[in-house]
Amino acid sequence: MSLYKLRTKPLHLATLEILQRRMTLSPKASNDYTRWLKGFEGEQRFDQFIEPIANESYLLHDLLLKKQNTTFQIDSLLITPEKIYLFEIKNYEGDFLYEDEKFYRLPNTEILNPLHQLQRAAALLGQLLKSHGHTIPIEGYVIFIHPHFHLYNAPLTPSIIFPTQIKPFLEQLKTASLLTSYHERLAQDLNDLHLNDSALNEIPSYTFDSLQKGMSCFQCFSFSVRLNGHRCLCENCGAYEAYRDALLRNVDEFKMLFPDEKIRTKLIYEWGGKLGSYKRIRTVLQKHFTKKRNNRWMYFE
Ligand SMILES: [Zn+2]
Repeated sequence: MSLYKLRTKPLHLATLEILQRRMTLSPKASNDYTRWLKGFEGEQRFDQFIEPIANESYLLHDLLLKKQNTTFQIDSLLITPEKIYLFEIKNYEGDFLYEDEKFYRLPNTEILNPLHQLQRAAALLGQLLKSHGHTIPIEGYVIFIHPHFHLYNAPLTPSIIFPTQIKPFLEQLKTASLLTSYHERLAQDLNDLHLNDSALNEIPSYTFDSLQKGMSCFQCFSFSVRLNGHRCLCENCGAYEAYRDALLRNVDEFKMLFPDEKIRTKLIYEWGGKLGSYKRIRTVLQKHFTKKRNNRWMYFE
């Protein structure tokens, strides 16, 4: 199996993860964070099943595609010699009900029908591929990945794969046929068509001043971290981390939240809650970044 496109933590999720530690999220943003986190965990769990099993195939995770003006997302896509498999992964936990083509989280919250999402994605993918000259058959499945998921009154359709069915289902995707250069071109085309997701999702608004400052612990993420020689000691969980590592981790967070801002010693000093001297911070930055200067100040890249 060739893993053609890796799954990385979505930028939206990574940003929310830092923000929820440094500000109070609104209930809406907080739900958004939980939903993204659960979705990502479910996808990672599915990867553990599929990556060792799929042999003669190309696997692409997390594709964001566009056909005309409609964007659609594919959690995992497997190119095999005969066809393309498309997987919509749902990490729902608990009891659900299927009734009249509708899905409910019990007791009575209606949710989007994942079969409809899947059909929409499969149709759009088919049109997109056709417009690029590909006519390989597409087969889609909704994968319910959470071991504690139950669907009452489940429809008898091969398009839904329940937790207990995942392993045997994936086993039977193995094939004796071989991939050709055509399939590689197809994987390459899909990879090229992938869009970046940065503008699509709403991020809560924040400013440098509005966020909690300090060095967070790498283990429990508390800000109760104090300096102990060359190391940081977390007073909450007792974890130690080299000062340099803690600082660089916090610089990464800063860069993620303020991509247009220059890395200046003063800002990082403030950002890290003034933990460690100005001079010490500058030494670490000098060692790990390139020093630049504009006509007003020195910064690092
Ligand atoms: Zn800690």
